[in-house]
This record gives sequence, C-alpha cells and structure tokens, in this order.
Amino acid sequence: MEILKMSDTCILCKSDRLKTVQKIKASDINDLYVRDLDVDVLLEFKGNKEIEYKECSNCHLHFFSPVLTGSPKFYESLLKPEEFYYKDDRYEFFLAKKHINKTDKVLEIGSGSGHFSQIINVDDYTGLEYNDKAIADAKEKGIQLIKKPIEDFAIEHENEFDVVCSFQVLEHVENPHDYIESSLKVLKKGGLIIFGVPSADSILTDNINHTLNFPPHHITRWYNKTFQGFENIFNVELVSVNNEPVSDRLKKSYTLNLLTNRVYKIFSSKGIIMSNTSRFRFVKKLVKKMINVFGIRLNTKNKKGEAVIVVLRKK
Ligand SMILES: [Zn+2]
Repeated sequence: MEILKMSDTCILCKSDRLKTVQKIKASDINDLYVRDLDVDVLLEFKGNKEIEYKECSNCHLHFFSPVLTGSPKFYESLLKPEEFYYKDDRYEFFLAKKHINKTDKVLEIGSGSGHFSQIINVDDYTGLEYNDKAIADAKEKGIQLIKKPIEDFAIEHENEFDVVCSFQVLEHVENPHDYIESSLKVLKKGGLIIFGVPSADSILTDNINHTLNFPPHHITRWYNKTFQGFENIFNVELVSVNNEPVSDRLKKSYTLNLLTNRVYKIFSSKGIIMSNTSRFRFVKKLVKKMINVFGIRLNTKNKKGEAVIVVLRKK
C-alpha cells in the first residue's frame, strides 16, 4: 500500500492557492460505486482513507487530492464501458467538425473505436488510444490507432498537426498541465485544440453523489471559468467555450438533480459533492416521487447540458 501525497499546488496552473471544499472518505466513495455500478474500488485508493476535493483559487479547477487515476482493471470492471465512452451521437463531435477542414492533419487523443474519425472524414487522421478492445474494434473498421500517451507521442511529432482533439479524456488525466502542453507541442502555430469534457457548470454532472464524477474515474471537474482563463496559463488564444444544451433524454434527470440539490442545500454546507447520510437519500427519494407523480419537468431552455467544448488556438 502506498499512501500518496496530497497536492500542494494546482495540477493545472501550479498555483498554491488551494482551498479544500470537502474531505471525503474513500469508503463513502466506494459505497457509491458498489451501490450504483456493482464495482468495488477500495483498492484503487491505495491505502488512502480520505481524499480532499480541492478548488484552485487561481484557475478555478476543482480536483481530487491525492491524485488517484483508475487502473486498467477498474476500467475493465465498469459495466459495458462502451456505453459510457463510445456513444456515437455526441454533440461535441458535430461541434468540433465545424472547425475541421478535409485537408487538415488531425490528431485525436483517446479515439475509442474511431467513431469521430468517421464523422470528420479527413485525409490525414491519427488517433491515440489505450484500450485494447477499442483499438481492435477500430482496426475492424480500417482505422489504425496508436497505443501511446500524448506526452511520449509529442516528443517525435512537434509542430505537425493542424488540429488536436480529445473528448471525455481530460477529466481522467493525472497531470492536465502536461497533457495540454504536449497537445500544444504537436500543433503547428495557429493550429486548434478542441477539448470536450463533462461540464461542472451543469447540474447533470455537478450534483451530489454523482458516482462516476469521483475518483478513480474522474480526477478533475471543469467549469467554464477555468477555460476562460486558459490564456493566462498556456500559450493560446481562446476561440470559444460552448455548452451543450440539455437534451430531451435528460430533462427528467435535470429536474431531479436540480430540485434535490436545492432542497438538500437547506441542511448542508456550501459546495459539498458527497453525502452519505440517510437524510440525503430521503430527500432524493422524495423529490423523485414528486416529479414522477406530478410529471414535473423544469424548463431547460438555455440551461447547460452534459458537455462543454473549448476551442483554443496555438499562438
Ligand atoms: Zn489552478
């Protein structure tokens, strides 16, 4: 068992202005994984009994410390991971496509089974992927992926690409600062980075006890405010930050999460993301019953949905 050190600087901007939002027991997080996904993750915490949910006062990144990323075994144990990762109707794919020309040289980090490459259909596509099953699936479609981290790939491919994309990857990454620097390194001057992540500004992801939003799955939580400050951290110009609208499929979840959090906030301290109390479970059950019985659906027009997509230009 190795007890990992708490981060004393931000893993994105390196500032030491960190606040602890909540201290959370590893056993409480494990209870969520066991209850919701039937996966025991206690060993993933490597002997750490407690982790801290931190907020950086400089860049507004929120992250868990010590930084504990999921092992390959953890990812294999998630039920039907393709349902989480390889959805093919992603809003972010279509938004990203608008920024890509057929003649662009494109690198995708975390390609899954290569669906995005089929959507953009460019002449020159390179994809990096860790998951062997995804690599094999892509190969069947005629897409050759490379099993290499971006940090290593970047050493041999400086200033080579017009566009670097990654979708639903950044929030899993142990060192987002180096990940982004490596992504910039492979880009030509004036080239674009397009990242899609779960939006921490959306109640669909930023709600109490959102299992997959905890380690060992997600390490970081991303607010628009963090992306809006990227020009102060990296050598980039901010092109746009785009929030996905709330899809019809998720209107009920949106209503449940928002009302539960509103009611629960009356009893709890600000900003908490975890509650193992029976009071929380009671509130959630009650709200769920209410919205089912009365068919309550809040108006989600102009509200932020699951994903946020940031577009950056390398200076
Ligand atoms: Zn920071």
